[in-house]
Amino acid sequence: MVSKKIIDKKPVFLCDICGIGYADKKTAQECEDYCQAHPGSCNPEISKKGVYFPGDFIPLKQK
Ligand SMILES: [Zn+2]
Repeated sequence: MVSKKIIDKKPVFLCDICGIGYADKKTAQECEDYCQAHPGSCNPEISKKGVYFPGDFIPLKQK
């Protein structure tokens, strides 16, 4: 489930699996769907749209 959080006075939608935040709920949901289907990896096409990255985020896999 995507969760909403206010960061820097802006609403950010967080993927509950990887914790990356997005400016819109749709993208966060896409990320979460991807994370669910591919545990331990993130889709760089989606995560590059992220506006918030948690401090303990595992670095994206480089291709
Ligand atoms: Zn995610």
